[in-house]
Amino acid sequence: SAKEQGISHYVRYDDQMSEENSRKLRMEHDLRRALDQRELHLVYQRKENIQTGQLIGLESLLRWNHPKLGMISPAEFIPLAEENGLIIPIGEWVVRSVCEQINAWQQLGLAVPPVAINLSVRQFKQDDLAERLAQILEENGIAPGHIELEITESVASSNNEEELIRKLYEIKRLGVLISLDDFGTGYSSFSCLRKFPIDTLKIDKSFMKDIAQKQEDMAIVSAIIGMAHSLQLQVLAEGVESGAQLELLKQHKCDAVQGYFHGYPAPPEEIAGLLALAQETKDNSRVS
Ligand code: C2E
Ligand code: MG
Ligand code: MG
Ligand code: MG
Repeated sequence: SAKEQGISHYVRYDDQMSEENSRKLRMEHDLRRALDQRELHLVYQRKENIQTGQLIGLESLLRWNHPKLGMISPAEFIPLAEENGLIIPIGEWVVRSVCEQINAWQQLGLAVPPVAINLSVRQFKQDDLAERLAQILEENGIAPGHIELEITESVASSNNEEELIRKLYEIKRLGVLISLDDFGTGYSSFSCLRKFPIDTLKIDKSFMKDIAQKQEDMAIVSAIIGMAHSLQLQVLAEGVESGAQLELLKQHKCDAVQGYFHGYPAPPEEIAGLLALAQETKDNSRVS
């Protein structure tokens, strides 16, 4: 009967809830050991100049290879790490690893463009964020201009605004680049734009999805590009997956692109090949 169906449906829903819950509990528990067990690693995604196709940067993206659960997305475990504070040691590990990676690529004779690191809300609660960052860079002999920090407007909502802005200027003064990630997804994107010392605005990938099908969506992206330019900011489109999107973004004078169309996030060995190729292209164009 319908009633029975209703009940069995309810039970299934309940099972699913507890399954999700136990997955969450397990992840919370295991994340504590993930760093020591070397279960975390970084992959890197290219950023390209839209007109020349030149490689202008890389974004580091965290991966957790769990021994039982397999690959877990940062979208799933970063929020947990934020809740229990593990984001602090994990975040420092990311900065160190990126520095070591830059050194490793340089030792292969490769020229390395700025590498971006995602920072989350809780990391901005540290009073000595800029100092710690400077110290890690110095320990690894990395010039600050090699590092870019990606922040989202969510840092604004849960940090004291004055302190946050002071920290951002401290970071900026070091010579580290700052970009505003996922632009347009929250409530305070515009006020962040006015107050934060940012170099690049990254338009969230949700805006790109239908630009080739819907004029209205392209109009919004175009307006964001225009606004960014009038504020002297570079603008990058995230989540570019097709040639049609790329063409439109080119026409509308977007500066840079990042997405599966240009390349998936890849392990360091693969990026080394990409850097070597970029160098060759550059050398050749210098000769001709
Ligand atoms: P994000 O910083 O906005 O990074 C871009 C995300 O979009 C990445 O997901 C990337 O793999 C994905 N992506 C790239 N190109 C495309 C595309 O063409 N289409 C689609 N649909 N997606 C694309 P990922 O690697 O799963 O990371 C998710 C989020 O997790 C990141 O979003 C960032 O907020 C956070 N995250 C990643 N690594 C770190 C980290 O080291 N520290 C912190 N605090 N957060 C991180
Ligand atoms: Mg990012
Ligand atoms: Mg983003
Ligand atoms: Mg994001």
